[in-house]
Amino acid sequence: MNLTGRFAPSPTGVLHLGNLRTALASWLSVRASGGRWLVRMEDVDGPRCRRDLGEAQLRDLAALGLESDVPVLWQSDRGPAYRAALAALHAAGRLYPCACSRRDLQQLASAPHAGDGLRPYPGRCRGRAWEGFDRALRLQLPAGAVAWTDRLLGPQADDPAALTGDPLLFRRDGCFAYHLAVVVDDGAQGVTEVVRGGDLRDVTATQIRLQEALGLPRPAYAHLGLVAAPDGGRLGKRTGALGLAALAERGVAVPEVLGWLGWSLGCLDRPEPCTAAELVARFSWDRVPPGEVRVPGDWA
Ligand code: GLU
Repeated sequence: MNLTGRFAPSPTGVLHLGNLRTALASWLSVRASGGRWLVRMEDVDGPRCRRDLGEAQLRDLAALGLESDVPVLWQSDRGPAYRAALAALHAAGRLYPCACSRRDLQQLASAPHAGDGLRPYPGRCRGRAWEGFDRALRLQLPAGAVAWTDRLLGPQADDPAALTGDPLLFRRDGCFAYHLAVVVDDGAQGVTEVVRGGDLRDVTATQIRLQEALGLPRPAYAHLGLVAAPDGGRLGKRTGALGLAALAERGVAVPEVLGWLGWSLGCLDRPEPCTAAELVARFSWDRVPPGEVRVPGDWA
């Protein structure tokens, strides 16, 4: 099987253990079966993204032995491709301008989803007349559920209207939205396997609908369980971003980090120092535990 896998961080901070685990899993999956692995910097979200943070993320990945097989793609360079995709969607009659303000959207948010970051857009501006490409633009989703199979979670079926509603693809401030950029670039880069954190599971059906609208093939998906603090709480509150630098300060060196990550991905019986390359022959999706993993008590 010739896979193309990718790791696609947003350069808004330090890569924490959860990000590093995702990166390693996607790399191992490709190296274990043969194929290409690439890194893409998802810096479409203007001011929150910084080039220097992206460069630091690439250095951390290199310290683990994970390097992109092709030049790193920065989404901030991809405006023309995203614009072309919007034009194609408009030509197919799938886009509409959205005039809802942030306040409108908060009022429209349905209670069950409040707080989880996903607020299905109920389609209030559907049917609005086209006003050009400099407005906020949404994709009109077709009705119905999407079935897909996750390498870790198994068969899934979601109605994207209930999870995200019609996704925003272009923002009024001129930024291309995450859903558009991720789908266009996975297509352009020939990505056949998407490995990412389980917090993105609920946007998968929406992105599949966008792939269909753009005539792009559907990659395989694997959504990993999150990495939690030793007590099961969210990582980050007390520890800050638990990345390679913070771990080094605690005396945890890269081979130990890799040993723990490899163990957490089912490659090792117990965490013991190793290199990424040593994990390749031991990697199989069948052995990756689907649930959450907790960092060792003396790391956090
Ligand atoms: N850029 C996204 C993030 O850092 C990941 C996108 C994806 O893997 O689809 O959370």
